[in-house]
Parts: sequence; structure tokens; C-alpha cells
Amino acid sequence: KSRDWDALTAALKGIEIITDATQVAKLSQDYHTFSPILQAQLAGKTGDLVIRPANEAEVLRVAAACVEFKVPLTVRGAGTGNYGQCVPLSGGVILDMTRMQNICWVKPGIARVEAGVKLAQLDKKAREIGWEMRMSPSTYRTATIGGFIAGGSGGIGSINYGLLGDRGNLFALRVVTLEDTPRAIELRGDHVQKVNHAWGINGIITELEIPLGPAYPWAEAIVTFESFMAAARFGQALADSDGMIKKLICITAWPIPSYLTPLRQYIPDGSHAALLMVAETSLEPLADLVREYGGSIAYQKLAQDVGKGFQLAEYTWNHTTLHARNVDASITYLQSIFPADKSLKVVEHMYDRFGDEVMMHLEFFRVGGTAIPGALQLVRYTTEERLNEIIRYHEEQGVFIANPHVYILELGGRKKVDVEQLEFKQMVDPYGLFNPGKMRVRLEHDL
Ligand code: FAD
Repeated sequence: KSRDWDALTAALKGIEIITDATQVAKLSQDYHTFSPILQAQLAGKTGDLVIRPANEAEVLRVAAACVEFKVPLTVRGAGTGNYGQCVPLSGGVILDMTRMQNICWVKPGIARVEAGVKLAQLDKKAREIGWEMRMSPSTYRTATIGGFIAGGSGGIGSINYGLLGDRGNLFALRVVTLEDTPRAIELRGDHVQKVNHAWGINGIITELEIPLGPAYPWAEAIVTFESFMAAARFGQALADSDGMIKKLICITAWPIPSYLTPLRQYIPDGSHAALLMVAETSLEPLADLVREYGGSIAYQKLAQDVGKGFQLAEYTWNHTTLHARNVDASITYLQSIFPADKSLKVVEHMYDRFGDEVMMHLEFFRVGGTAIPGALQLVRYTTEERLNEIIRYHEEQGVFIANPHVYILELGGRKKVDVEQLEFKQMVDPYGLFNPGKMRVRLEHDL
């Protein structure tokens, strides 16, 4: 239906609005391009204008105008999401939250921030008093905290603290609604789950209260192995070594290291590599563990040199996929959780069965108190049918796949309708204006 953009923008006088078509198209994109399937499905989807509020009062005004003119609204952080979460399916307003960068306060173990604060920015501030983000995606330099909570799952640090959805990893959220008279609601405790990982369709997060973890001087290390399973078993052993302090355990099978250009000089051809972050005080026991598993320490960087050269974390998690795709754009990926089995039988089976077609990339993290291998395997893409066959085979063998090739919320990681989220949505979005089409379950008033 035609929309009265002039009336809408007139109602928002004084708030930053971008109407330039090229800019709007750019700010309607994210990193769903890692998936050839999403690339085709979301091609050409753009918003009509971008609004960049400076504070919550402006967010409330934008919300009121969108409700008045019945215009769809898609919330956006830094746009680094991988499932097209901030690609608008029916045009409308893109609400860019990156100007809201106020760090309200930081105390030992806890911080309150505006949603547009970048993860690295909060880390820097928190380190002044000896704390840091408990976990960060590998996009920590650009991604916003609001976008991480609404669209991410976990990352560097998840080996200690689990995933974002685990109770205790998010204390409070303040969200603006799209009701007839929009308001800001504060959610605390378990109520945060109504908005956590809801892809921006259950309210505009303006502020968050999140827990912090103690900041250690983190050293980086690359350990190489001749056998992939030795590398994988080493990863599990390090994950299970409670006396050693770690933040990142990423295991990559050859030829993945060949795609990580600056790291290549340290990794012999044909070798498998563990990319690690451990507390400096754990480097000595790490050397013993490496010896036990027959690996070689190929590279090491102390915390004081963190600003120099590459940051190892930016070659892990989904950055591994990014670098591989820079070399070979036909590569795509899977997101998996392997069964909690210390013998890594299923990992070994998949490694043997798929060989070079599904290149093994493990990321260890804690699930329910147990360290297990998650994986972001790199797939040499041929057809959608073949990709689905690979997914199905993994599921049949007990591997959980959070399918990154779908843009519908319930079809991705969750695989089910979250009743609590749906009920909350009915209250905060009575006209179905938050990026309509993202949820399969349709509301009465959905556009
Ligand atoms: P956006 O992409 O802008 O938004 C993500 C979702 O959140 C969208 O649905 C959007 O509508 C919603 N949203 C954003 N801000 C708000 C708000 N204020 N209120 C309500 N909804 C909002 N993710 C991980 O979890 N772990 C990783 O290790 C990881 N590695 C990555 C590596 C690469 C190379 C790339 C490209 C992506 C990776 N991601 C990872 C995905 C993504 O970078 C992170 O989840 C990131 O935290 C998203 O933040 P953002 O600000 O870019 O969010």
C-alpha cells in the first residue's frame, strides 16, 4: 500500500533521517550473503528510509509515527548478522541504533549500556576496573550489544559462560513497543527471554544490563597437529582442564588454515590448527598439554602485544567463514552442536565421511555445564538439495543443526515457536509492524 513518507518525516522533525537510495539500500543489508540460499531469497529487499535516533525519547517518537502511519519498522545494529535478520521484508523504516552509544555505568561484574554500544567499546571501559564482556562474537569491533543480544548466540568466552540464552547472561532489557501509545518497558530476570534472540521483532531494545567476567591478560596461541582427531581431542582436553583459564578453543581442519592468509606462515601445509586464547599464567600448563597430544606451538602472543599484528579471535567463529569466502566465494557453512561425548565419535565420523566437502571447524563451548564441540563447518556448495542432504545426515546422527540458510525465526536455531515470545509480541506489536514476515506464525493484524 502506498505510504505517506512526507507526513511521516514531518512528524520526525529534528531526528536524523537518511533518504538517499544507495545509503538506504546499504543499510538494509547484513551478512546473510554467506548463504547462497538467503542471497537469492533476500535479493533486492530494501527499506524506504533510515532513521538514526540519538536517544530513547527519539526512539519513542519514531515508534509513535510508525504506528500512526502503519509503516513497518526494522531495527538494525551494525548489520553483521548472518541470517538476514535486519533485512526488511516489506520495506518501511530501518531504525539504525548505532548512535545510541552511552555507557550508563560499569560496576564490578555488571554494566548498563545503551543498545548501540559496540562490544569492544564496553570491553575497553570495563577493563579499566578489571572486567570485560563475558562473551563476544568475533565481530566485537563493529557489532553492537543490542544486535548481539537480539541476533547473536555466543562466541569467544562461551567456553566459560555458555550461550547468551543461558540464565544469568543477561540481567535486564529496556524495550520500546509499537502499541497505539508506544512506551518503554523494563524487563528483568527470566522476563528478558521474551526479547532475547527475537531478531528485533519483539521491541526496540534501548538499554541493557549485562554481566561481566574477570579480565585476564589473554595470550594467543596457534598449535598445529598432523592428525585432525589429535587436534580435536586436544581441544576437548583443554576445554575440560578446569585448572587452566581459557577463552577460545577453535580447531580447524586442513585446508581451512590455508584460507587464513596472515596465519599461514605459522602453519605447515597439510597441518590442522588450534587457535587459542588462554590466560598468560596458563601458557606453561598449555605447553604440557600440547606435548601430551603431540602438537607443536607454532605461534604465541602475549597480552601486552594485543594491539600488534592480527587478532587471532578475528580468524575464529564465523570469521573463519568470512576469510575462506574471501578466497573461494562458493564456500558456505553450517552451524552445529555435536553430542556431548568426550570420545568425539560423531565428529570423527563426519570428518571421515565428508572429507573436503564439509571442512571441519570446531568451536568448544559449555552447554549445561559440559564442554562440547560446536561447529561452523565450511561447505563446498553445489546445490540446495545437496546442502539439505548434508544437514539431514548430520541430524540423523544426532548433530543439532541451527540452520543458517533460513530467514524465518522459528526455522533457525530454535526450531519451535516460543510461546512466551509470541504472547509478548502480541502485546508490544499489535499491528504486526516489526519487520513483518520474520515469524511464520502470523498475527491477526500482520500486514
Ligand atoms: P545486527 O546484525 O544489526 O542485528 C541483528 C539482529 O538484532 C537483527 O534482527 C536486528 O533487527 C536486531 N537488533 C539489532 N539491534 C537491536 C535493538 N537495539 N533492539 C532490538 N533488536 C535489535 N554471532 C555470534 O553470536 N557469535 C559469533 O562469534 C559471530 N561471529 C560472526 C562473524 C562474522 C564474520 C559475521 C559476519 C557475523 C558473526 N556473528 C556472530 C553474527 C553477528 O555478527 C553477531 O551476532 C553480532 O553481535 C550482531 O550485532 P549487530 O550489531 O551487527 O546486529
